Amino acid sequence: MDLHPLRFVDSSGEIPICRMCQRFCAIRPEQAGFCRTVVNKAGALYSTIYGLIAEHGVDPIEKKPVRCYRPGTKVLSLGTFGCNLRCSWCQNWEIAYVDASAPIRARRYSPAEVVAIAQASGCDGIAWTYNEPSIWVDFIADCAEAAHAAGLYTALISNGLFSPDAIHALHPLIDVYRADFKSLDAAMYREQGHLSSHQGVLDNIIAMHRAGVHVELVTVVMPTYITGEHLARMADWIIRELDVMTPWHLTRFVPYAQLTHLPPTPRAALDEAGAIAAAAGLRRVFIGDWYESTQHEPESVV
Ligand code: SF4
Repeated sequence: MDLHPLRFVDSSGEIPICRMCQRFCAIRPEQAGFCRTVVNKAGALYSTIYGLIAEHGVDPIEKKPVRCYRPGTKVLSLGTFGCNLRCSWCQNWEIAYVDASAPIRARRYSPAEVVAIAQASGCDGIAWTYNEPSIWVDFIADCAEAAHAAGLYTALISNGLFSPDAIHALHPLIDVYRADFKSLDAAMYREQGHLSSHQGVLDNIIAMHRAGVHVELVTVVMPTYITGEHLARMADWIIRELDVMTPWHLTRFVPYAQLTHLPPTPRAALDEAGAIAAAAGLRRVFIGDWYESTQHEPESVV
């Protein structure tokens, strides 16, 4: 198996700790971390997925969804294997739940090759998407550096679980941070993502915004979980911690995997969610999926 020495490690204790994401896995020899992409070999930690591409494609940036950064441009979308959450409705489970601590038949690409593919495909940027980018920070950092040198922009499409170390290392290299803003309640992350605290997710959104990275947020309006009262609190949080111009995408829940007992979000509920966000004062609220998304009144001033 192709192993790449991990950059974000705390080796001060008896058991090395991976510091790429907020799980901070302590990984014993011959074991793997939660995401199954970091392994301990003879006491040192390695990534098994450096440059390992599960899926790639050329997309309009709006598909991510990112609506207010370089609209009309194209990105090379890249994803690898594994994830650090276990959302019960995951639609990318075929790549996200793969055990990458065992050998996988997929091609590896160098950062220079990724940039060359983006340029040859007529892309203006590169987006790390499909599965969760906070599990292959080393590769993203190397690619992003090469992308900027080639005049391409960079976008992270993330569940927000980067560690503070990773955010600190990445923010100068990243132009767009499109983060999931699943909820303000820890219970949602605990029940749906098996994550004990979501504070780090919120801290990362604030850190990227303050660092001058273009931030857009996505919330899946899940029936029973995301109520009108909850949406109003989320809107207030965005205005308080970021600003009224932060783009907020309110998207439909589609029953999937372990949540097939829940109904899909009706269009009327999305419209209502958009009205709540706009009434709170947010100026860039998008409802629905990207191809049918509409900007909710009041119109953006941009
Ligand atoms: S990336 Fe996250 S989940 Fe994976 S081993 Fe490191 S700390 Fe654990």
